Amino acid sequence: MKIVMNGGHCPGKDSGAVGAQLTEAAVCRQVMEQAALLLRDQGYETLTVQTNELADIVGASDGYGADLFVSVHCNAAGNKAARGSEVYFASEAGRYLAACICSRLTRELETNDRGVRDGSRLYVLRHTAAVAVLVELAFISNPVDEALLLGRTNAFAAAVVGGILDFLHGKEAEEWMKC
Ligand SMILES: [Zn+2]
Repeated sequence: MKIVMNGGHCPGKDSGAVGAQLTEAAVCRQVMEQAALLLRDQGYETLTVQTNELADIVGASDGYGADLFVSVHCNAAGNKAARGSEVYFASEAGRYLAACICSRLTRELETNDRGVRDGSRLYVLRHTAAVAVLVELAFISNPVDEALLLGRTNAFAAAVVGGILDFLHGKEAEEWMKC
């Protein structure tokens, strides 16, 4: 079982969304690195990838032979009231992984549950061979969510990893692995 953790955007090249205090790229780097540590603690081979070019992200994941690909991002909206977690998928197994991660995020961080969504238009999901999801942890543009992203970064990483483990330990995943 090989897992790729991808931090969205690339510090120094593309900050991603910008909040009052945080940049998306910096938050994603921390969550990616912490999640990778937790996964390695559980014995899973894990590669971290954070680079500006989407084709390079996909190439790194496929070159590594990843079984699971988890990209982390922060959401943003012009409407500052928008808040919560949502997770995108592009396959049936991906939908299940997305549901596992979204459930952990909303329970453990008490973010609003914006649910799982069809992400088949998203490049990194469409072009990755692995079961792939893209996690929008919370809204960097919302003060309540930004405070969570600032103060509880490691809890976001733990929730993402908890969702991955729920997926891997679940019945549906066993059936998926047999295929
Ligand atoms: Zn992003």
